[in-house]
Amino acid sequence: MKRKLKKAMSILLAFTLLFGSFAFGLADVDWADFAVKAKAMTLGDYTYSTGWLGIRIISVNKSISGDVVVPAYFTYELADGKIEVAPVAYIGENAFKNCTAIKSITLPDTVCYIYREAFYGCTSLESITLSRDLKEIGYMAFKNCKSLKSIEIPDGVTTIGSDAFCNCENLESATLPDSITELYDSVFKWCKKLESITIPDRVTKIGSDAFGYCESLTNITIPEGVTKIDNRAFNYCKKLKSVTLPSTLTIIGESAFCGCIELESIKLPKNVIEIGSSAFSGCSKLERITIPAAVTSIGSSAFYGCDALKSITVESENTAYSSDEHGVLFNKDKTKLIKYPAGSTNEIYYVPDGVTSVDNYAFHKCNFLKSIIFPDSITELVPTYVWNCANLECVHIPKSVTSISSNFLKDTNAYICSTTENCSAKEFADANGIEFRVCTGHNAFIPEPTTKPVVTEPATTKPVEVPTITEPSTTKPVEVPTTTKPVVTEPSTTKPVEVPSTTKPVEAPTTTKPVVEPTKPSATVPSTTKPTTKPVVTTKPTAEPTTKPSGVGFIFKILEPSVSVVKYGETLILHTNLTSISAAEKIEWSVEGEGVTIKPSADGMTCAVTSTSTGDVTVTAKYTDASGVEHVSEQEIESNASFWQKIVSFFKNLFGINRIIEQRIKF
Ligand SMILES: [Zn+2]
Repeated sequence: MKRKLKKAMSILLAFTLLFGSFAFGLADVDWADFAVKAKAMTLGDYTYSTGWLGIRIISVNKSISGDVVVPAYFTYELADGKIEVAPVAYIGENAFKNCTAIKSITLPDTVCYIYREAFYGCTSLESITLSRDLKEIGYMAFKNCKSLKSIEIPDGVTTIGSDAFCNCENLESATLPDSITELYDSVFKWCKKLESITIPDRVTKIGSDAFGYCESLTNITIPEGVTKIDNRAFNYCKKLKSVTLPSTLTIIGESAFCGCIELESIKLPKNVIEIGSSAFSGCSKLERITIPAAVTSIGSSAFYGCDALKSITVESENTAYSSDEHGVLFNKDKTKLIKYPAGSTNEIYYVPDGVTSVDNYAFHKCNFLKSIIFPDSITELVPTYVWNCANLECVHIPKSVTSISSNFLKDTNAYICSTTENCSAKEFADANGIEFRVCTGHNAFIPEPTTKPVVTEPATTKPVEVPTITEPSTTKPVEVPTTTKPVVTEPSTTKPVEVPSTTKPVEAPTTTKPVVEPTKPSATVPSTTKPTTKPVVTTKPTAEPTTKPSGVGFIFKILEPSVSVVKYGETLILHTNLTSISAAEKIEWSVEGEGVTIKPSADGMTCAVTSTSTGDVTVTAKYTDASGVEHVSEQEIESNASFWQKIVSFFKNLFGINRIIEQRIKF
């Protein structure tokens, strides 16, 4: 064999000089520069020529059928008419392409190279025995071999080309050799029956789409050494439940695990620095994810469609991202809200003060959320979309927001509220047929509206035994001039494609770029700027509440309220600094002066003060502790029924809103 090869090579050199064109190696070196073309020979079903290492099969009779055994040697004719013999070294490009009647193929061990598309579309091919000396399998070599059930690639193969087994939809098992170092693009894409595969240890890169739509693949272990999982490598692996990633991994490509609907958990190794866009989008069972400290880039929609995601936790050392106690993903300084975990069971979410922008799709399918309260720090809700939050009732948009995405709120029955009518939120609501309400802001306590008349007990101000420190309210209503700019509406964009439940492959949202539609001119309505003097109150209590009066030095008090002026129809909730109370203790409330009614809560720890007319009052809370000692605290309130009286009563009549100003309380 060695002798023969040598001989063949010397002959080939002569051939090259005489006849010209041969292909060498996978690269299909073009020897067309040589003056003379090689002579193709035919023997039986085979047409072949010669190459550097031996015979190259150029094509076969397309009707060749059944079990095919490719001969190991062919004869060929020299220029002088002499007949020589050489081993088959190459299966040429397209050689067996679309030979749809072949059931099995056995290659001789002499074959070193299988060129591109060599067995493409052999749709009846069920099995193939590859040669022991095989080095390379070309691009799309076995693509669309839809009957191929298994493949065993011998050790020694260093390259398996892109798309090599793409769309081998009946391929159940594939054995890869330890000699490969990379899995090329789409190599097993659409191998829908491939249940498991072992990736050899020396592999360092998983190409794009490598296992895309391997819908039967249940588990995968990526070996140590792999640094990159390329785009869509495992997208729509619908049964993929278990993924083990190596510590060497640094990059998770776009849509890498998109649509892996069975994936419940995945541990990202500590060296990961980049998570591509849509990397985990549509992983609808994924419940939690931890972003390692090294991550510096998370692509858009990385967790889009993760309907069960309860929390995203960013390791605290991370320098680019952060998360809050609700598992919400932010940039590091929390000026940008990136993703609210859709599966969070919170009913109300206060976007933290300081956030200035919110990512698009940050709030998507948040089915537990009833209220989203955006803070005064937000100036624009672009490119924010709040979509498909089925139970959403209320979205509070502060008047600081001057620009709102045209598709901001969709597929929900929520209303929009703000502290003034004179704001972009109102214009947006009007332009989109969304209900708008005026509110007074929101805090962590939303008590039941007071419906019954308040029975006011006479004030019993007894001598104080424990010194009461009643801090005068230092919070003056702040006049915030409203500078309402016209609502800027950007072009409407189409909804990203949902993760399909059917077998039809649909690309992830990022790959399907939203189509930009022409701008709707009608949506841009300049607002009539109306100055408003309405105070916005967001003052935190200065005193930390004490939990229990047992300790020496406990001072019972009414916590400093957020406002001391209550307007007609509004309700101020006063809080004491008690957070629990036993049966032996009680708190009684009373009021002196005209202008308000009060309604204490059942436990007495809070009291609703509702303005009914103009006046100054003193509200007193009397706490009787377990040993019978009384503690008293007072709060002065100004009740103000003026210009706003009409406005407020108008809205009350219209919407039945109970306007509430609450105390922001921090435990
Ligand atoms: Zn509101």
